Amino acid sequence: MSASLHHSLRVADLHTHPMLGVGYLGLGLRGGWPRWALRGPLRNLLGLVTPEQARRGGVDLLVFVIYQLPNPRRSYRAGLRRQLRRFEALCARYAGTLQHVRSSEEIERAWAGGKVAVLLALEGGHSIERHPEDLVWLRDKGLVYLTISHFIDNRLCGTATHPLRRRWGLSRRGREVVRLCDELGIVLDVTHSSDRARREIARLSRLPVIYSHTGLRRFVPLERMQTEADMRAVARDGGLVGQLLSPYFVSGRLHGDVDEVARNLEYMCEVMGPEHVAIGSDFDSGLNPPAPLRSIADYPLLTAAMQRRGLGRAAIEQIWSGSFLRLLRAIGR
Ligand SMILES: [Zn+2]
Repeated sequence: MSASLHHSLRVADLHTHPMLGVGYLGLGLRGGWPRWALRGPLRNLLGLVTPEQARRGGVDLLVFVIYQLPNPRRSYRAGLRRQLRRFEALCARYAGTLQHVRSSEEIERAWAGGKVAVLLALEGGHSIERHPEDLVWLRDKGLVYLTISHFIDNRLCGTATHPLRRRWGLSRRGREVVRLCDELGIVLDVTHSSDRARREIARLSRLPVIYSHTGLRRFVPLERMQTEADMRAVARDGGLVGQLLSPYFVSGRLHGDVDEVARNLEYMCEVMGPEHVAIGSDFDSGLNPPAPLRSIADYPLLTAAMQRRGLGRAAIEQIWSGSFLRLLRAIGR
């Protein structure tokens, strides 16, 4: 019953990291992952988001996130270009399954052709802090959102987890980047930003802001997570909040299951309405999935948990893709 509901819906995951393996390490390009990668300590970093699993899990739309470690001595631009090349090689290798898309129109076209649509996003504003103009060619490649901060402060804005707890907001360059994103139609993702930066970005940005992969401060009392006030502000401006799936971000404990995820989703629906709720798994980032999920292939089990929680078809459909598709159309993407 629930499996048939799941497979009748369009399913989107707003935040996935297969590009850490493909883009950074150059793995998985020749088809499949090396066996060692799927067993050892890297098992939550590789192989949870593959074309085959997308098919099995009824997944229709994935956002692949480009990330590179902060290292001021390296050229971020060269790193971005290398990851783009490897992304394009991956799409070519799996041309029967994956289709690189840049807009909702292209998503529809990919779906009409029976493909899994893949959008690109960039996590960590440090990758463009020296050359914000790189956002222009990244936008041509379809960049849909910029997660402006990551673990530590960058030149654009303060983060929720910087060890020195400076918790500053946007810098002058950060404000320039917000304006440029507005112009280009790139959504600002304030996941990882300090409370102050989130408020400043929301005030300045003409487009709705999003949290692509986060948790609720109600259950995990950290600045990295978001509050009821954050959620209401996002809903008011037409944005959305993606729930991260790893148990620590759901309940604050290292282990947990899909029923706890469904509890969070239900609560978010109560606060914001399901049309602002989404899923951003953060799979392939090294974090463990909630039991009994092993990869995106098991997403029908998450739909079943939402049903057990009493969420109806309309709400589940919003959560799995409706909210995100509405946002894309609202901003002309
Ligand atoms: Zn992240």
